[in-house]
Amino acid sequence: MINKTKVLFASAEVAPFAKVGGLGDVSGALPIALNGLESESFDLRIFMPFHARVREYNPPHHLIGSFNFKLTNDTNLQCELYLSQIANTKVYLLDDEYINHNSPVYHGDWRLDGLKYVSFSLLVLEAAKYLDWQPDILHANDWHTALAINALEQHYKKDPFFKNTKTVLSIHNLPFNGWGSQEAMSMLGFYPTTDPDLPDWAKFTPLPMGISATDLVITVSPGYAKEITTPHFGCGIEHYLQKHEYKLMGILNGIDVDSFNPETDASLPYQFSTDRLYERVRNKLELQSQLGLDVGHQHPLITMVSRLTHQKGLDLLLDGLEKIVDQPWQFVLLGTGETEIENRVSHFAKRYPNKIIPILKYDEKFARMLYASGDMFTMPSLYEPCGLSQMIAMRYGNIPVASATGGLRDSIIDYQQQPNEATGFLFTDISADGFASTLSKALELFEDKVIWTQIQRNAMQQDFSWHHSAITYANAYKNLLNR
Ligand code: ADP
Repeated sequence: MINKTKVLFASAEVAPFAKVGGLGDVSGALPIALNGLESESFDLRIFMPFHARVREYNPPHHLIGSFNFKLTNDTNLQCELYLSQIANTKVYLLDDEYINHNSPVYHGDWRLDGLKYVSFSLLVLEAAKYLDWQPDILHANDWHTALAINALEQHYKKDPFFKNTKTVLSIHNLPFNGWGSQEAMSMLGFYPTTDPDLPDWAKFTPLPMGISATDLVITVSPGYAKEITTPHFGCGIEHYLQKHEYKLMGILNGIDVDSFNPETDASLPYQFSTDRLYERVRNKLELQSQLGLDVGHQHPLITMVSRLTHQKGLDLLLDGLEKIVDQPWQFVLLGTGETEIENRVSHFAKRYPNKIIPILKYDEKFARMLYASGDMFTMPSLYEPCGLSQMIAMRYGNIPVASATGGLRDSIIDYQQQPNEATGFLFTDISADGFASTLSKALELFEDKVIWTQIQRNAMQQDFSWHHSAITYANAYKNLLNR
């Protein structure tokens, strides 16, 4: 029998059980792609908290067992362990009094989130011991599970069970570092790391602590791996990351190309492919008519599907659009988020009725309709660790106009740099002017149907499947185990 490489994959979110953002997408797809690689032999198992959201979703699951474990401060934590499954992959649902399965994925209260995720980080290790399943690799994701890696050093150093376990920490968004969990860490027996290369504040903050303790750091795009070693993106630990660049790499995320497939997407009135782009236009005409916009393919339709947060560059977007407001475009935005930004969007739309339509809600079906109808997809992010929306947009022939940062730069081939291979437009001057002038260029090219169709075909033919990324992850795991 082949000895499979055992990987404990710990994550706060896993789609479809509980997804808040990109972390959920990755955690629900990467393990399945890795377990499915025919050329490899992995046994990846997902460990996630038993959130209220999971209970609502109610996947088939059963209780495997309950156990107690003693914290270093001598209190006992009572835990329950359930087993479920996503496709070919086992999913363990973990519960304790801090996770308690009535709680939201994120409380938004640092004390409660601290207790939930610090205890979860310990619990994944205890669960592996309870199962007598010795991981070759512990793969943690973001601050929520970073402390599982520290715990190997701080709590389990003398435990032979984890003696050969190597560690990987994925960073999906560096600014969210778990600051505020200090009380929870102290309560549950963690102490500051003594790593002299970290700034003092970071020595007792979950994500930098995990970065310091782990064998390998993976960001969700190669571009973001480089950016976080600079002061602009490094969130105060850029010097640490520069010095320890040898253990830092980036792997671009994928998307679910079966689900996001314009040829089969049942939520679209008209399915299409690169050979049937005329069917795509019918979606656009239907959407324009539904929303009360002037109907006609000659009116360029600009779209956006996004969380409305500072990161996504909404100020820059609205200021940029205002600069070219006399041009004959239409704009439809789907998004929810910070009240202040939602208000600004609504206010802006009131000034330009019949030109700008904001739809302030979360709606997956409508998002697909926008991907499949828009001519241009805007993503003026101030930073973007990877970004999935631009990949979905390209797959549906909706051409991205995006900031040249992080994963956007890694996944979009810029028309200005490589006109023949282009899949979109990138702007390096990340400002309202930079955005407006690049969008103007795209609007101008939209008039040339030969060029535009070529860009659409290029975009739709890109391979953004997880299979591609999974092979790179598999190699990263193998290199780590052979070190
Ligand atoms: P982030 O993870 O930073 O939010 P990504 O681009 O990586 O950004 O992923 C966002 C995902 O969430 C995409 O699948 C996008 O289609 C989806 N999404 C964002 N906002 C909405 C919304 N209002 N309605 C439906 N889907 C949305």
